Amino acid sequence: MKQVAHLLAAALAPVLLTAQNLTLAKRGQPAAYTLVRSTNASPSQIYAAEEFQRFTEQMTGVKLPLITDDAPLPAQAILLGDTQYTATFLSNSADLAALGTDGFRIVTKPPHLLIIGSRERGTLYGVYEALERFGGCRWYTSWHSVIPQRDVFAVPAIDDSRKPAFAMREPFWFDMFDGDLAARNKVNGNAMRLADKHGGKNFRFGGGLFCHTFNPLCPPEEFFDTHPEYYSEINGKRVKDHTQLCLTNPDVLKIVTGRVLERIRKDPTARLFSVSQNDWHNFCTCPACKAIDDREESHAGTLINFVNQVAEAVEREFPGVWIETLAYQYTRKPPKTVRPRHNVVPRLCTIECDFSKSLDLSVFDQNRKFVEEIRGWSGMATQLFIWDYTTNFRTYTGPFPNVLALQGNVKFFRDNRVVGLFEQGAYQGRHGDFAELKAWLLAKWLWDPDLPAEPLLADFFNGYYGAAAPLVRRYFDEVHTFYGTSTNTPLRIFEDVKNPVIPDEFYARATALWQQAETAVKDAPAHAYNVRMGAFPVLFARLARLPPFEEKKVWVTSNPQQYDVPAEHRALATELLKRFSEAKNIRLSESHEAHENMLSKWRYLAGPLKFPANAGQPRATVEDTLLSLGNRGKWGDTVADPLAEDGSAMKLYNTHYEWCTTLPFSQVAFDPGKKYRIRMRVRVEKAPGKEGEAFWSGVYDTKNKKGCGGCDRKTSAVGEGYAWYDVAEWVPETAHYFWIGPGRFDKKNGTSAINALFIDKLELVRAD
Ligand SMILES: [Zn+2]
Repeated sequence: MKQVAHLLAAALAPVLLTAQNLTLAKRGQPAAYTLVRSTNASPSQIYAAEEFQRFTEQMTGVKLPLITDDAPLPAQAILLGDTQYTATFLSNSADLAALGTDGFRIVTKPPHLLIIGSRERGTLYGVYEALERFGGCRWYTSWHSVIPQRDVFAVPAIDDSRKPAFAMREPFWFDMFDGDLAARNKVNGNAMRLADKHGGKNFRFGGGLFCHTFNPLCPPEEFFDTHPEYYSEINGKRVKDHTQLCLTNPDVLKIVTGRVLERIRKDPTARLFSVSQNDWHNFCTCPACKAIDDREESHAGTLINFVNQVAEAVEREFPGVWIETLAYQYTRKPPKTVRPRHNVVPRLCTIECDFSKSLDLSVFDQNRKFVEEIRGWSGMATQLFIWDYTTNFRTYTGPFPNVLALQGNVKFFRDNRVVGLFEQGAYQGRHGDFAELKAWLLAKWLWDPDLPAEPLLADFFNGYYGAAAPLVRRYFDEVHTFYGTSTNTPLRIFEDVKNPVIPDEFYARATALWQQAETAVKDAPAHAYNVRMGAFPVLFARLARLPPFEEKKVWVTSNPQQYDVPAEHRALATELLKRFSEAKNIRLSESHEAHENMLSKWRYLAGPLKFPANAGQPRATVEDTLLSLGNRGKWGDTVADPLAEDGSAMKLYNTHYEWCTTLPFSQVAFDPGKKYRIRMRVRVEKAPGKEGEAFWSGVYDTKNKKGCGGCDRKTSAVGEGYAWYDVAEWVPETAHYFWIGPGRFDKKNGTSAINALFIDKLELVRAD
C-alpha cells in the first residue's frame, strides 16, 4: 500500500505563530529557507537533508533548496549537523560531544535553525524529531504514514537537547525491521535493515554469535566422541544431546576463546559477541562445576567465571568488544561473589514472567523473583542488556493484552541501568495482535520511557484507524481488563486463546465493535485495511474457541448432511483465510508447523466437505489401516497378509494382552439413537501344542465406564484361517470405542497360547 497523506489536525500539538517562530515553508510561496549540510557530511547526514526536503515538500508543496557549506551562508538557513557555520552560533561547542552518537540539539538562532547531532545518527534523528514535533509527521508502519497538509511549517523559538534512555533500542517486530520505518522512529537495533543512510546500527552482534552459542563454539559433533569431558555431566554421565559445556574444563576455555577471537578477527567492526548457554537446561554437575555453583548459589557462578576469562583474553586484542552472555532460565539468579568483568554484558530474559502489568507491579511469583534478580545484576554489572518478550509466541494473532505493561517495564529496565533493550515480538510476520501499535509504542518508549501513554495511544489510534478509532479503542480498553486481576490470571507468552479468563460473551461484543469499526471506515481504504487486520485476532480466537470439528473416518449414516462443517466454523475460517491472503506476510505462530497446521485446518473448514461414496448408506467396511494401534512396533504393526481380503492386516504380537487396537466412535458418522451391529474378520496363528485364550474384544463406554457387548475365544474354538466374529449389537455414542487385543498369556512364564493375531477388517451395519 502507498503512503497516505491527509490532514490530522486533532492529533497535533498546535504551534503558536509568534514573532519568535521561524516560518520554514509557506504554501504557494517561494522557498525562503535553504538546507545546508557539510561538504563532508556522513551518509546519514546527507539522507537527513533529503528527508527534511522530502517531507517539507509533502506537507507544504514547497521544495527547500539543499546546498553544502562551501557556499556562502544563506539569509535563512537550516544548518544540519556540524557545518562550517554551526560553531559560530554556539557558545559551547563541547555540547556536541555530550550528545553522543544518537542525541541531538534543536536550536533556533533567528533567522536560522540548527539541528545538531553526530555523524552517526544524531543529526538524522534531530531532523525526524523536528518533522514529527513541529510538522506532525507520523510513521506508524511501513505502509501507513501520516504527513499532514499544512499551509505553514514553522518552528517555535527553542533550544532543546535530547538523548535516548537506551543505547540499543530494538523493538524486534517484523515491520519495524524496515530501515526507513526504524530510522524515522529512532530505532537502532541489531536486526533492523539499517543502511548507512539510516545511520547503521549502534550495537551489532558480530561473527554470527547472537545467542545460544555454546554448541556452535564447541560443537559436540566435533569433540564429544574424543572428549566427552568437554560437555555436561548429568547423573555421573557426560551427555552429547541437549548438552551444555563443562565450564571448568581448561581445554573448553581454550577452544571457545580461540574460536571467539577467530570470529572477531573476521568481523572486527561489530561490538557484541555472544558466549551463551544453549536453549535448554542440562548444566554440568561435575564436581568442579558443582563446587563453584554451590559456592555462588547459582549456575551463573560457573557461567560468569568462564565468560570473564574469555572476555579477559578478548580485551587484550579487542579492547572495544563486549562479550555478551545470557542470564536465562537456570542462570538468571545472580552469583554471590563472582562479578562480570567490565567488558561482559549479561543479558537477562523475562521469559517466565507475567505481562499483564509491569514486572515490578505484578504479584506473580516469577515477576517478584525477576525483580529481585535484576536488582542483583544491576548492582554488579557495568552494563546490562535485557531480552524482553512482548507477544504471544503460541499464537501471534490471538489477543494478547500486554500493552499496559510495556511502558512500566521499559521504565523499570531504565531504572536498573539497562543499556540495551531487545523487545521480542512477532518477528516473522505482520498483524499480530496490535503488532503495529506495540512496535511503535516501544520505539517511542525506548527513546524516552517517560512519554505519557495517553497522548501516544490517542495519536496512534486516530492516525492509524481514522474514524474507527473510538470503537477500536473501546475494544482495546476492555480487552486489557481481564488478565492480572489475581495471581491465578497471569498473562504469559505461550497463552492459549481458549483460556476462559477472557469470556466468550466478551468476544460476542468485540465482534460487534469491530463490525461497526469496519463500517465506520468503509470509504477510507487505508484505514479500512488497518481495521480489517486489527479484527483478525478476534476472529482467530472465536474459531479457536468453537468445539473442534473432527473429520469422520467411517461413514454409516443415512443422513450425511448432519456431519457437514457447522456454519459458524465455515464462516470464520473463510473470513480468516480471506484476510490472510489479502494481507500477505501474516504469521500465525512462532512455530512453522503450528502456522501450517492452522492454515490447513482453516482450508479444510472453509472448503466444501467431500462426502465419501458410501456416506448415505448405513453400512461400512472398516479396513485395518483405519484402526488406531497403541505402541506401534512393540505391540503390533500393519503387515502384508495374502490371506486378508485386501492383502493387508493389522498383526498383534503375543507379547502382551492390551486392548491396543481401537476404533473410537468420535471418528464414526452414525445415526444417533439407532442400533448397530459390529463384527470383525480375524485369524489366529496358534502356538503349536498350547491351549488358552486366542483373543478378546468388545465395545467400551468411556462415559459410563462399562462394556457394551464383546467377543472372546479360546484357541480350541478358532480355526486356522480368517473367520467373521460378531462383537456387539448396541446403540453407539461418540464416547464409545471398539477394541481388540491378543489372548491373555501366562504372565509369570510370559507364554501365550498364540503366536499372533491378525485383523483384516471390521463391518459396521445399522441393525434396525
Ligand atoms: Zn563441569
